[in-house]
Formats: sequence, C-alpha cells, structure tokens
Amino acid sequence: MDNHELIKNDARLHGWLLQRHLQEHAEGLIPALIGNIVNAIVAGVLFWQKMSPVAVIVGIAVMSGIVLHRFHISRKVAVVGADETVRLQSISQEVTVNAAILGGSWGLATFYMMTMGSPADHMFAGILGSGMMAAGTITYRTLPKAAFAYLIAAGGASFAALFIVQGPAAIAAMVLLACFLFILMASVRKTFDRSCIRHLHEHELSESAETIRLLLHDYEEQASDWLVTLDSAGHVVAPGQNFCAAAAMQASELEGFRLTDLLIKDENAARLRRYLKGKKAFREIKAALKVGDKTRWWAFSMRPRDDGGWRGVVYDVTVQHEAEQKVQYLAHFDSLTNLPNRLLFNQRLTAALSEPDTQTALLYVDLDNFKDVNDSLGHPVGDHLLQTVAQTLDIVVGQQGLVARLGGDEFAVICHPESDEALEALAEQIIDVLAKTMSINGIDIQCSASVGVATTADGPADVSQFQQFADLALYAAKSSGRRHWRRFDTAMNDAAQVRRMVEFDLRHALSNGELRLHYQPLVDIQTSETTGCEALLRWESPMRGFVQPADFIPVAEESGLIVPIGEWVIREALNEARMMPEHMTISVNLSPLQMRSPNLIPTIVNALASSGVAASRLELEITETVLLHDSDANIATLNAIHDLGVRIALDDFGTGYSSLSYLRRFPFDKIKIDRSFVEDIDNREDCRAIIRSVVSLAQSLGITTTAEGVERTEQLDQLRAEGCTHVQGFLFSKAVAADQLTGLDFTKGRRRAA
Ligand code: C2E
Ligand code: CA
Ligand code: CA
Repeated sequence: MDNHELIKNDARLHGWLLQRHLQEHAEGLIPALIGNIVNAIVAGVLFWQKMSPVAVIVGIAVMSGIVLHRFHISRKVAVVGADETVRLQSISQEVTVNAAILGGSWGLATFYMMTMGSPADHMFAGILGSGMMAAGTITYRTLPKAAFAYLIAAGGASFAALFIVQGPAAIAAMVLLACFLFILMASVRKTFDRSCIRHLHEHELSESAETIRLLLHDYEEQASDWLVTLDSAGHVVAPGQNFCAAAAMQASELEGFRLTDLLIKDENAARLRRYLKGKKAFREIKAALKVGDKTRWWAFSMRPRDDGGWRGVVYDVTVQHEAEQKVQYLAHFDSLTNLPNRLLFNQRLTAALSEPDTQTALLYVDLDNFKDVNDSLGHPVGDHLLQTVAQTLDIVVGQQGLVARLGGDEFAVICHPESDEALEALAEQIIDVLAKTMSINGIDIQCSASVGVATTADGPADVSQFQQFADLALYAAKSSGRRHWRRFDTAMNDAAQVRRMVEFDLRHALSNGELRLHYQPLVDIQTSETTGCEALLRWESPMRGFVQPADFIPVAEESGLIVPIGEWVIREALNEARMMPEHMTISVNLSPLQMRSPNLIPTIVNALASSGVAASRLELEITETVLLHDSDANIATLNAIHDLGVRIALDDFGTGYSSLSYLRRFPFDKIKIDRSFVEDIDNREDCRAIIRSVVSLAQSLGITTTAEGVERTEQLDQLRAEGCTHVQGFLFSKAVAADQLTGLDFTKGRRRAA
C-alpha cells in the first residue's frame, strides 16, 4: 500500500496529516501576507495614476478581504483537532477558494498591466506574475489543491493577457509560462509527497512514542521499585506515586519526611544511616519498616548528588527476604523439633568459647532406648517422642541456656552455670524429667536419658575437644547403666585412649592367632547330660595377658572388627565340634553387626561343608536387638539360615526392651533365660513368676528353654520345678578349652570330672 492509499484509508491519519499541512501553511502566513501587502502597495502606487482610484481601491479592498480571510482561516486551523476531519476538509476548501481568489486577483493585475501598460509595465507585470506564482507555490506547497487553484488562476490570467498581446515574444512567453506552471505544479506535488512521507514518519514515531509512554506508565504503575530523591538532610523530595503507595502515605505527608524515620529503628536502619552519612554510592542496603501492621523489607541503592542530596531506587524485597529467612531457618533449625541444629549449635558453642571469662558447660543428652521405641512402635511415634523430649528439654533449660538437636536422639545443651551445684542440678533435672513416663499418641512410653557433662573448666583446647569431652562423659554415663549423668574427668580420656589401643591390638589379634574359643557345657536339666556347648571367645594377648570378652567385644563391635572375628568363630567352633561327640550341639554367638554382613551365610555354608558337621548341630545365639533394627532384612537372613537346618536361639531373654512378641516374629528353637532372672530365682517370687510364664509360653510353642548362669543347686531345683529344659552355668562348668570339655560328665555328681 503506498502512502496516498494509506492516508485515504485511514480517516484518522488523513485528518492528522491535513491538520499538520494546514498548520504548516498557517506558519508561513505572516511572510506571505507581508509579501502580498508589499506587492499590493507597490502595484497600487504604480496604478494610482493609470487606473481610476475606484478600481485601485476595489483592488486593495479585495486584497484586504483575502488577507483577512486568510488570517481568519489560520485562527481556525489553530483550534481545530486532528480528529475533526470534516472541519479540516472544509478549512482546506476555504484555503483553496482563498488561493484561487488570490491567484485570480494577481492574475487580473498582471493581465491589466500586460494589456494596458507601457513596456516598463509589461516588465513589472512579468516580474510580478512570475514572482507571485513562485511565492504562491512555496506558500501552498503543503496544500496542492490550493496551490493548483492559485497557479491556474494566476497563470490563466497571464495566458489570457499574452494571448491578447500576441507577437513572437508573447508566444515565447506563453511557452515558458506553460513550462513554469508545469514545473511549479510538479514541484508542489513532489514537495507535498515528501511532506506526507515526513509527516507519516513523524506520526509513526509519535505513535510508538505514545506506546512506549503507555508501557512505561504501565511499568511504573506495576513496578516493584521506585525512584527516591532526598535532600542533603535526608528528607524525601517529590515522592512518586509508587513510593507513596509502598509507604501507604500521601505525597504531601511523605514530602519532607526523613527517609530513615520511616524505618524500624534497628541495626539495619542504623546501617543505612551510616551509608547516607558516608556520601558514597551504595547498593541494596536492606532495612525494615512498618507499613500498616505489616513489616516490609526495602532495598536501597542510592548515589549522592552534587547538591548534597541523594537519588536512587528502592524496591520491596519482603518476599525475597522472607524466603531467605526461611532458608536461614531451615539451615539452622531442626524441622522436626524446631530446635537449633548442629550447625547453629556449633556456631553458638564457638561463640561461647570465645568468651574466656565466663564458664561454659556442654551437656550431651542421649535417649537410652529411643531406637527400640522407634523400631517397635514406628517412626510417627518416634518423631512425636523426639518432639516431646525437645519441648521438655526446652522448658527445663529455659533461659539458662540453649538446647539443640544434633541428630537422631542426640540433644545438647550449652549453658553458663553459676556454680557446679547449679550445673549438677540441671543435669539431674534433665535425667528426672526424661525418666518420667510420656504419653505419645496414647501410648505410655518410658524413655530415659543419659547425660554427659563437660565444662570449660576441664580445659578443652577447642570446640571439637570440648565436644569430645562431653561425648566421653556421655559414653561413661551410658556404660554406667543409663539414666545417669556423668561429668567428664581425665580418666575418661584415658579410658578412651585404652579403647583405641585395644582396637589397635585387636586388629592384629586375629591374624596373629591370639584368639581362642572356650566352651561352656549346656546341660539337660532332667538327665544332667551335656547336650551341647556354647563357644565363648577369649583373647590371649602377649601384651595384655588374658582379655575378657567384656573388655574387647564392645570395642570389636564399635569398630566393626566383630565381623571378621565372628566369621573366624563360626569356622573355628565348627572345626572343633568335629572332635566332639556327635550328639552335642555347638552354640555360637552372633553380633547384630554380623547380620548385616553379606558374608554371613556363605561363611556358615562353607564352615559346615568343610567341617562336615551336620547343620542341625549348629545353634546361633542372637539377642533381640537383631529383631529390632532392620528387622525385616534380619528376619529374612535368619530364615535363610534356618532353612539350612541351623537352629536359632534367642539369647539374654528378658534383658532387652521387649517382650514375648518377638517369639511370634521368628520361629526360634530355643530361649535362653538371662542370668539376671536366674540369680534370684530361689528367693524372689517375681523372678520365679517371669520364668514360669516364659517356660510355659515356650512349651506351648514347642521351644526349649535354657537358663543361664546357674551357680547353685537351689537355683537348679527351682528351674527344674518350673519346667526349664536346659541349664548352663558355673555350677556345671565355666567355659573351658575344647580338650578339657570332652572329659566333663555331669550325670554323676554334677561336678567337673577329670
Ligand atoms: P553370653 O552370650 O550371655 O555368654 C554367657 C556369659 O555368661 C559368658 O561370659 C559366660 O562365661 C558367663 N557365665 C556362664 N555361666 C555363668 C555363671 O554361672 N555365672 C556367671 N557369673 N557368669 C556365667 P563371657 O564368656 O565373659 O562372655 C560374655 C559375653 O560376651 C557373652 O555373653 C556374649 O554376649 C559375648 N561373647 C562371647 N563370645 C562371643 C562371640 O564369639 N561372639 C559374640 N558376638 N559375642 C560373644
Ligand atoms: Ca550367648
Ligand atoms: Ca546369654
């Protein structure tokens, strides 16, 4: 589509363009009028003697009329709108008529001079005619219709005059006049076209400028940032709409308000104030303020101005700030209990240690049987228990210190006790309050805790040693029978050192052949015959002498060494069982850690195969912890072992967390009643009652029962009366080397025989 069509099809554009052209025409009005008036005066003076004064006056009157009319038109142009197309067109027609009359008037004057005057008049007429036509072309260049009307009227009169004059000069003048007219008209056309293009461009630009302005306005309205100008005293100058809206204040209120007075008086506001005093540009300084009843966060980025004031942008970062706070919170607080987590705890402990003048105490609190609760009652109950413990601790410690959850069932307290007595009282209070029965999801749970205490008075070199001290104290508390608190002393450090050395030596014990197995007979309570024996590990260390299992098995379990050692026990026990009478079973203790070893089943299978001992002679003793932790996987392993024909015994029954419910989870072949029940069986009715119920349950399930730790005949008689099937204990024999075992016979006299 070319420009003309574009203009024709778009009435709004047409109107706008016409208005521009009329305006442009009107802008050239004054010089044009002056030109016309000067011409009229000169011509009037010239014709005054040659023409009748009436004609001259009429001519001047006509010219004045035209001039006034043009003046009138230009006034109309000044007030007409671009959208008033009809009015614009009528004005344009008026201009055309005016131009035609003006052109005609000048044409008439030229005609008169050419036809009537002297040769000098002819010359004047020639100059006047061509000058007026050229001037008219310039005046009407933006209104081609008016230009054409003007030229035709003026040119037509000149033609007529030349036609009347006749002669070769007149003909030549006519030819030139035609040429001039043609050139002038073509130039008007060209100029008009160019003007149209220029105006169209201008229009397009103004349209896009308008679009941008609208977009900017829109942006400004929706923008989350706003410009802020401050004077040298920090008072707000000419606040924008967005600023007022963000601060929920009127522009009049905000004007002159000290910016920092808007803010909540805290460290952030003080920081911003410092920056504003500093007179250096700054970026994204955050501060909080109250807008209504809500706290908002703004970020200020400002530059100083030459007049000592400030200018910059401010934007609302509340959402971002809240998200950051949340991330900060998640990074520093435990989501289950809302207590500070290990990270925050470490930071606080470091900070506390950096104050050398105040004594800091660190208490490690560990629940004694949390794992059992979690495994037996489920994780929701476990989680709820942890939450309750967290709340309880928080209440007990209160303002005295900080309670943190370090993970699992480990809690820690950092405090600054006034005295050792106050610290001891706090530790005792924690033990007491956590020893109370807690009702979790309607279940009564007794979940005691042990506490390890260390203080800066113990002389820790750094945070990690401080934690190590508290850890050692906790270890000691747990070892001394749980529900206890212990304070760190250097002997604990020594004991830990000893444990580390035991572990070091134990690593070599296996390869150096320092481990032995001793066997303790298991005796049939009715016949007093030895039906089997339990393999019990002994360590004959060249450095330490004879080491008891109690002193090295916990170390082996903590270090994982129990796995290869346990495998050796299985191989060695079966190897030695070859030499024992075929009716004798061989019992081997299995550590919970071994249950997780992928080597366990292959070891058993290989040891059975290479020893040639029947699987039915092997009995594995496990404690109920095996059924608590990873119980599904462990039960699958136990079933696989059971399927080999190996018997499984439940060891130390009655000492654990639990209950007879384990008997339902796995078809045990034997229950070993713990020594603690056997100890007092001859003088305590409650022990007898427990043994009675275990034995009767075992009988109903077809399980045999072995009572451990039988030392006196009274115990034996009682156990027999309760229906126990087997016994084991010092009354018959302690654990002895395999070669001594074969010589034992308890059928006669129940004593060790040579
Ligand atoms: P346990 O499985 O309950 O073994 C029985 C423990 O009671 C043995 O202690 C045994 O000597 C002791 N005992 C037996 N009869 C009496 C008695 O009449 N009176 C008293 N006071 N004690 C008696 P030992 O050999 O010191 O073993 C302690 C624990 O070490 C064992 O307890 C067992 O849990 C663990 N253990 C021993 N050998 C191994 C092993 O090869 N592997 C694993 N994983 N643990 C083992
Ligand atoms: Ca055992
Ligand atoms: Ca036992």
